[in-house]
Amino acid sequence: MALVLVLLGGWVFQRLQPPKSARAAADDFVLTDVTVIEPTLSRGAAATLRVVNGRIQRGTDRIDGAMKLPDLSHTYVLPGLVDMHAHLPPDTPLKLSGYYSLLFLAHGVTTIRDAGDPDGTAVPAARKGIEDHEFPGPRIFSCGPFVAGAEPRRWANTEIVEKPEDAERIASALVEAGHSCIKVYEDLSVEKIVALKAAGERHGLQVMGHVPSQLSFEEALVPDVQHFFGVPQAESLKRDHVLNRIADWQDVDDARLELIVQTTLEHGIINTPTLVSSHRLMLYRDYEAAKSDPAVVLLPRIFSDVVWNPVSGIPYWREIDGFLPSIEDAFRKKLDLAGQLHQAGATLQLGTDTQQPFVVPGASLHEEMMLFMQAGIPLEEVWAMATWKQGQTLMPDLGRLTDGAPADLLVFREDPTQSPEALGTLVAVVAQGKLYFSDEIERTVERYRAHFREGLVDEISLPIARRKVKQSVLRDY
Ligand SMILES: [Zn+2]
Repeated sequence: MALVLVLLGGWVFQRLQPPKSARAAADDFVLTDVTVIEPTLSRGAAATLRVVNGRIQRGTDRIDGAMKLPDLSHTYVLPGLVDMHAHLPPDTPLKLSGYYSLLFLAHGVTTIRDAGDPDGTAVPAARKGIEDHEFPGPRIFSCGPFVAGAEPRRWANTEIVEKPEDAERIASALVEAGHSCIKVYEDLSVEKIVALKAAGERHGLQVMGHVPSQLSFEEALVPDVQHFFGVPQAESLKRDHVLNRIADWQDVDDARLELIVQTTLEHGIINTPTLVSSHRLMLYRDYEAAKSDPAVVLLPRIFSDVVWNPVSGIPYWREIDGFLPSIEDAFRKKLDLAGQLHQAGATLQLGTDTQQPFVVPGASLHEEMMLFMQAGIPLEEVWAMATWKQGQTLMPDLGRLTDGAPADLLVFREDPTQSPEALGTLVAVVAQGKLYFSDEIERTVERYRAHFREGLVDEISLPIARRKVKQSVLRDY
């Protein structure tokens, strides 16, 4: 009997294992006769570019010993995309880390900034899998725990700043754990934010996050504001709830937008609006259709059927219907604000907030790029922001294609800075110096999708997801 159980357990375990990852085609190679584009900086036709030891080498005299890839001649080489606000999936029996990592690469996203790890397992699982060559993935910069000002913890992995002096201890622990940003979150006072900014500066940590719901944008002065939180004044929020934070823009008028632009310029604030996370909520207008959205179908159905279900899913989305008109009004003002900030010369960053309803890794960054265009920002400028402008804030020369720069690059058949459709002509992705052909990545995506649809995996994952949703006691996010 015991033997049968062991064999059965082994069989189940085997069936739950994710498929084999995409294989790199080369890690020392040369691209010849390509057009190398550093968006808004330079454009070099008939260029030669070598990648070796994870770095870029420029110049035709240095190609001995490298693999030649003639099939990739006459293509366009651009820096990899950076998602400045992503969330990796927690490490569960479904083992989604490898798949998320692959979806980022499939869409040309070679770097992410993980903006908070809800239970502390997500970032380590992805990092370890990539470092151990279990699966390929993007470069990961992370904030680690959420840093809040008071109980209750909205996420299990939260550090509480009881008093401003705690900031120093928290910042040094973040550095110790390999994180590179501080995710300021809810319930923080101005005094505590000031202390976190000072500690962040001492330790070389970016300070990004929410304007806490009790404060307004101009009071909190968070250095890198996410989701345009705080643009509506704190007192205009009808309730401290995620839906109200997204939708309660009824009092935001032209004068308010003007004040936000002025405050942003005066204090050198960065805005990472994650427009796509508001935009995707509008798919709830037709939930059945949303479930077959081309990006949504890439994910296992635990998300669309269970987690994001507007009737039985995560509690805070269950009231979404009544909010849709105001979410749409607010969204128009957010687009307007993004355009005005750009016009005024302020810094905007592209992030997506993966894990929000219908926000799919990689695909959502493409949508964020399109929304930036809709805000009136020219396509090539959007490319500059999504690559070297935000990349360089994370690591020297990240997003550049100069000699010695980290080798994260994308190879397209057509020039994607000239037309958004050309994003679909990606033929290869180079992540940390390793080249993957897009068709190999796509075949692997298909293997994962088949794996998630497979009877046993599907049957085991759905009840686990339902139980997790039931246990969910989050009053907000
Ligand atoms: Zn987030």
